[in-house]
Amino acid sequence: MGRADLVRVAGHRIRLDAMRAHPERYGRLAATAKTIDGHAYCLCRPEPLRLVIRHRLDRYFLARWPGEGPLHDPSCPFHQPDPALTGRAAYADTAIVDTPTGTTIRFDAPLTSSTAASVSGAQDELGATTSGSGRRTVGLLGLLHYLWEDARLNTWNPGKRRDWGTIAADIGDRIHDCALSGRPLHQVLHVIPPDRPGTRVANLAAFDEFVDRLRGPRDQIRRALVLGELTAVTATRYGVAYTLAHCPKRLFASAPLHERVLRSYGSAFSRAASTHAGRRVGLFLIERSPKGYATVADTAIMLTTGTGYIPCDSSHELVMADALRHADRAFLKPVRYDHVSLVLPDFVLTDTDIATVIEVWGLDSEEYLRRKAIKIAEYERSGTQLIGWCPEDPLPNLAVSTTPFSDSRKSHGP
Ligand SMILES: [Zn+2]
Repeated sequence: MGRADLVRVAGHRIRLDAMRAHPERYGRLAATAKTIDGHAYCLCRPEPLRLVIRHRLDRYFLARWPGEGPLHDPSCPFHQPDPALTGRAAYADTAIVDTPTGTTIRFDAPLTSSTAASVSGAQDELGATTSGSGRRTVGLLGLLHYLWEDARLNTWNPGKRRDWGTIAADIGDRIHDCALSGRPLHQVLHVIPPDRPGTRVANLAAFDEFVDRLRGPRDQIRRALVLGELTAVTATRYGVAYTLAHCPKRLFASAPLHERVLRSYGSAFSRAASTHAGRRVGLFLIERSPKGYATVADTAIMLTTGTGYIPCDSSHELVMADALRHADRAFLKPVRYDHVSLVLPDFVLTDTDIATVIEVWGLDSEEYLRRKAIKIAEYERSGTQLIGWCPEDPLPNLAVSTTPFSDSRKSHGP
């Protein structure tokens, strides 16, 4: 049985988290492996899997081999979900491309434009910019789901500790290899850093500097992205102000934009979501106002659990995700990206030998019943075990005897 936290670099077995925390200690080894072997190995499976060795800013680091993500163990940091379990697979091949040097994403909004037309005005409905499969560009929701999925934040393993600090670090680590419409993603995306007493002043300065970089010539609009947890929406004279966790500066949006946000992402703003301690993570496309404020041109909002920031599509899914977490289950929440009508399982258990999905049956609309019928037929065809839950019923028993895999995780010390 492999180990999901061990890699082999130039013949040496190394803990991946040690290499990530202290890349300087492993530089020589990584350089040797890159020159002699051309790659490193992940040891999460009995059969080692190749890893790309990248060199950036005098640091070496490891990345998954293009196309081999689904081969890694579900608990491995290099694992990517099966194409059948992600909205990413529904884009055209050119929308998100993994290469040995990184990932390139074609974003559907211009980051620079020479007209005064706002981005949100160009899109009639937020979230409704889905054109089914084969979409050639990635929208804001798609990009938000990409960030979450690529950092494996839509998965959960028992014993995991995850807070905004680990999320910002995980995403920050990964976006360095990523280009968005030809621009380095880390230059156009500001992930709000965790607020800690020692870094507060520097964080604020970094935010101001990021917004200030959007100052351009009079006839040009520059845009960039901010990722943060939306904690409050307050009315202002001109619309609304968005308050983000860990950030003393607010983002400002027009009333019509906020109305569209409420229509497109209603479940994230529902009272039931608050009752079940749901959080709202937002990816904001911002511009700089003449007075230097960050104004929102467009946004995508994702409802997540209060603990673990696991994406959920409804308050009932929040209840199920929390129940799975309390039952010490390892699971995946498939995310749709921009393909909001894509049929995906609500949750997939990743600690079972038999493929097992969890469905939270909800609405009884015609569209919903159609999707439910598709899902049930597909699970029967593929021999997938289905645990269904109607929210008016008590929760099903989610605890099972631990699998050999989770036993082995627990028995390995550092
Ligand atoms: Zn692996």
